[in-house]
Amino acid sequence: MRPLIAGNWKMNLLRRQGADLAAAVARGLRGTDAGVDVTLFPPFPAVAAVVEAVADSEITVGGQDLHAEDAGAHTGAISGPMLLDMGATRVLVGHSERRQEFGESDEVVNLKLKAALRHDILPVLCVGDTHDEREAGQTEAVVERQVRTGLEGVVTGRAAEITVAYEPVWAIGTGVTATPDEAAAVHARIHALLQELWGQAAESVRVLYGGSVTPGNAADLLTRPGIEGALVGGASLDARDFCAIVRAACA
Ligand code: PEP
Repeated sequence: MRPLIAGNWKMNLLRRQGADLAAAVARGLRGTDAGVDVTLFPPFPAVAAVVEAVADSEITVGGQDLHAEDAGAHTGAISGPMLLDMGATRVLVGHSERRQEFGESDEVVNLKLKAALRHDILPVLCVGDTHDEREAGQTEAVVERQVRTGLEGVVTGRAAEITVAYEPVWAIGTGVTATPDEAAAVHARIHALLQELWGQAAESVRVLYGGSVTPGNAADLLTRPGIEGALVGGASLDARDFCAIVRAACA
């Protein structure tokens, strides 16, 4: 399966800075074996500029969130049609920062994921356990609940459009990474769950790892079975680091 390396820029960079970073990533990957999919997730105001900056490359661009409705009285929100209008083709749903800072429930995440599919935007469903949940031995139960509810009502025929990202909350932005063994165990559980939901169609679903991925640890993680790419936060803000992670996935 082709790995997917995705950069989540979060609430960083102005339009010009975003376009410059995207252009540097495109330059850095020129000539790199095209065996890896690469997506950048800039903040909304920079999406169109980043789409333009990577137009001559294979890099795709996504939004960091979307509203479940297409339009209406939802001050401050961005809809699927608005993302499409800016040239985005993927979207993150259920990132732990959205769940924690904005109180998004599994049910809301599911509505957002279905809104993305309604507009043929490829959703990346983010799931992950907190430090306390991990300490209490609840990792698998939490991730299972988030995956089951997040994917509720998604028919088998749409399975190929879904990506899942396992991002332990305790590893996001902390410099602490799950060990390759820890990550691989959760990925195996997620793959088994997807198989249960969609049978053979689940084989085309990539499960990414996210949480303090760097050029130094990427290869160890990405060579594990069941880890089909990475969602990269901090290191995606540095073109050289991000390109090195992409190259680790090529290898
Ligand atoms: C993220 O927020 O999706 C993420 C993985 O961040 P970081 O790589 O900085 O831990």
